[in-house]
Amino acid sequence: MAEAVRFVCSECPAEIEAWSDGNPYYIDEAGRKQYAYHPDHERLARCIGNDSPHLCLACGEEFNVDSEAPIGQCPKCTSTDISETWELAGRRCPHCKGGILAVDPDFRCVS
Ligand SMILES: [Zn+2]
Ligand SMILES: [Zn+2]
Repeated sequence: MAEAVRFVCSECPAEIEAWSDGNPYYIDEAGRKQYAYHPDHERLARCIGNDSPHLCLACGEEFNVDSEAPIGQCPKCTSTDISETWELAGRRCPHCKGGILAVDPDFRCVS
């Protein structure tokens, strides 16, 4: 089961949504990466990797990190100050650089 949360900034209107299990993928017959979405369990069973959404804490860029070819820095600004979007609670907001990100208690979504 996948769960989503939304992080909101204490100082600015920034909000970032995150899913607990990222974007599992498999490689199809043509060698292309295909994402398996819930609730497609047959496809999920074929998955060989996971693109997990990350946020750059320096510039605010959101990008995926492939579990099969992980990167340790932001593809936009090359900062190594990155975090999984799922783990943003308590991190400094990259948009206003002043606020702290916290889970929005009014937002809860399960698929
Ligand atoms: Zn960046
Ligand atoms: Zn902010």
